[in-house]
Amino acid sequence: MASTNRFDSRLALFLAPLAAAASLALVGCAADDVTTLGDEDAVAAEGAAGLGLGARGADVRKVYEYLRRYGYFQNAELAEHYPDWTPAVSREPADPELFDEALEEGVRLYQAQQGLPVTGIVDAETHRIMQMPRCSHPDYYDPPSVVPTLDIENPYTHFGGTWSSTALSYKFANYTSDFAQASVRSAIESALFSWTSISSFSFSEVSSGENISFGFYTGSHGCTGGAFDGSSGVLAHAYSPGSGLGGDVHFDDAESWSSAFLETVALHEVGHALGLGHSTVSNATMYAYYTGTDTQLEDDDRAGIWSRYASYASPSGCGSLNAGQGLSAEQSVWSCDGRFQLKYQSDGNLVLYMGSSPLWATGTNGAGGDRVLMQEDGNLVIYNASGHPVWATNTPGTSNRYANLAVQNDGNVVLYRTGGGVAWASNTCCH
Ligand SMILES: [Zn+2]
Ligand SMILES: [Zn+2]
Repeated sequence: MASTNRFDSRLALFLAPLAAAASLALVGCAADDVTTLGDEDAVAAEGAAGLGLGARGADVRKVYEYLRRYGYFQNAELAEHYPDWTPAVSREPADPELFDEALEEGVRLYQAQQGLPVTGIVDAETHRIMQMPRCSHPDYYDPPSVVPTLDIENPYTHFGGTWSSTALSYKFANYTSDFAQASVRSAIESALFSWTSISSFSFSEVSSGENISFGFYTGSHGCTGGAFDGSSGVLAHAYSPGSGLGGDVHFDDAESWSSAFLETVALHEVGHALGLGHSTVSNATMYAYYTGTDTQLEDDDRAGIWSRYASYASPSGCGSLNAGQGLSAEQSVWSCDGRFQLKYQSDGNLVLYMGSSPLWATGTNGAGGDRVLMQEDGNLVIYNASGHPVWATNTPGTSNRYANLAVQNDGNVVLYRTGGGVAWASNTCCH
């Protein structure tokens, strides 16, 4: 819970700036780039740290240019590539080398967006974040046809519309030659799988008519989101849900891709393809900055995807909670003989009953539970409304993928592996 605590401690600091910024239409992006900063873009000079109101010089200009690049000030290139784009700050500094109130407003908005304490000063932490590789699409960009929202209790943001179906198809348009094709496929499919394991999405590969196309390109390749720029710099971009280019994910083939690197970038880009924007939570997959290899979705990513789509399918029939199905409060799965009831109670406890007698329970009452998911990764998990797991069978794994939970006529609740075999049981047999 360390990350949550850290976020909470920051929350009070940026309440006021966020409220002010809400009128500037905070939301996701239309075409999204992950970038490693080039030398010319980094606020690299040590002198930039500690700058505040009244400062002057070349380092002030670097801060201004950095913020301008990411959407805080007038920028003809952004205006050309992003429909209806406007800068986050409505006024320009009178002199790019003078740290005036306009630049201070930009720094404050930048700090709010990155989940930093809002000081208006390029302090050490702000300076450190400015050195890091990041997604190059502008902050505070509100794509057309999207109602701008930013709920300060939910650090994730939305990006464009949503898919009308959660059964999506994908295609590999081509591959990088950096490593084996089979490994390229599995890296990207692992990223897709991470999203399916905590949502109602499913993905199937097709040869044409796909929703999401994954491809590797170099230089100018016909995207309005921008040309790729060679090694480092821009790594990839993705489009929000829609037809045509909608949902498509492009990787810059000038990068030296490896499996874990590709999966990390793909996980972030697929989030955009599903309709998520950037998060202010620094350990979330949807944080704007690339912070190294990380192929795990975090609480905030789960809360984000659940805010846009159902987190699971409801169970149908008796005796089983299948992969991808789940229970919300007061829902149950019954054994087929009707003698046993596995009920997710509104108090957050998952309880197995024989008649009115409890046989087994997770003991999570009062833990703030929100839903139980039989995930496609083989893990049965109780989550709270913030996407934080509060109880789990801890049985995820490749051999457990698409496992199912059986509420048996003998009174035992058993989590079966895909190919048979018991991964977990309540050990309440036999009645
Ligand atoms: Zn991004
Ligand atoms: Zn592209």
